Amino acid sequence: AKASGGNQSAFFDPTLAEAAEQRRHMENDLRQAVREQQFVLYYQPIAELANHRVAGAEALIRWRHPERGLIPPDHFIPIVEQSGLINEIGLWVLETACAQLAAWQAAGSTHYLSINVSGRQIPHGLPPAAIADALARHGVEPGRLAVEITEGILLNNISEAQSWLHAVQQLGIPVYLDDFGTGYSSLSYLKRFPLDTLKIDRAFVQDMQPGNSEHSLVEAIIAMARSLGLKVVAEGVENAAQMKMLGAMGCHYGQGYFLSRPMPADEFAESAKDIDRR
Ligand code: C2E
Ligand code: CA
Ligand code: CA
Ligand code: CA
Repeated sequence: AKASGGNQSAFFDPTLAEAAEQRRHMENDLRQAVREQQFVLYYQPIAELANHRVAGAEALIRWRHPERGLIPPDHFIPIVEQSGLINEIGLWVLETACAQLAAWQAAGSTHYLSINVSGRQIPHGLPPAAIADALARHGVEPGRLAVEITEGILLNNISEAQSWLHAVQQLGIPVYLDDFGTGYSSLSYLKRFPLDTLKIDRAFVQDMQPGNSEHSLVEAIIAMARSLGLKVVAEGVENAAQMKMLGAMGCHYGQGYFLSRPMPADEFAESAKDIDRR
């Protein structure tokens, strides 16, 4: 083995080593971020297509890095999922969402709020009892909070996912299936798991044109969801034409830049009022 040592350097890739080093650095920064609570939730309105009123919002995390500014979740969620920090961050998201719901409730608003739950948090990272406890401490009705999960969760660990979802539903918390259409999209689990709402992935919504296959697909998903008694949210609605097509297809809710970008808490109420007035 020693004799081949000289050759091994030929396989040593400095860019790989740099990437590993960067990752270690980021993991340390993230540990500090958890300790110092450098995260913030942004809120993106979800509006009823029939009457153009805001029904609720999705909570989307950002990292307020002391030097690098606001970092989007795609840049750090995969790392916190692998390092196990996701559980601590997920509990912070739950706590912050419940506090926000309590504040909205106190201000007379009926908006609901959905939080994103990653597969790594299920079943032990985010126990249903912890959700019930957070809701009770903040005096928030369970129906005001929703959890968004992706298809991967359902496929990776069917029996554990099933019991977690049933426990969550028993608490009265609606379950949304996120990014629908991007994974395996097996229709069988729509019956097998206790789901309330499908969120159609923005890729389909954005490619929709009258008469094209994405249009047919979105139409079929909405019809199927409705026949199963599920509500439908279309993600990534960016213009009036998409809003109109989705409304005509019987889609219940829309979310996207056309209505509003995700907003910090202090700007959300104004943004929601603005949408209601439009
Ligand atoms: P997602 O759950 O599919 O969230 C929707 C993403 O689409 C958000 O990106 C949102 O800002 C973006 N978006 C909304 N409307 C439009 C539109 O009209 N056009 C386009 N192009 N994009 C739109 P964001 O905030 O960067 O979040 C990315 C992903 O990070 C989320 O995708 C979710 O998977 C994950 N994420 C966010 N917050 C959390 C969290 O608290 N916990 C976990 N585990 N994951 C989170
Ligand atoms: Ca989501
Ligand atoms: Ca989504
Ligand atoms: Ca997504």
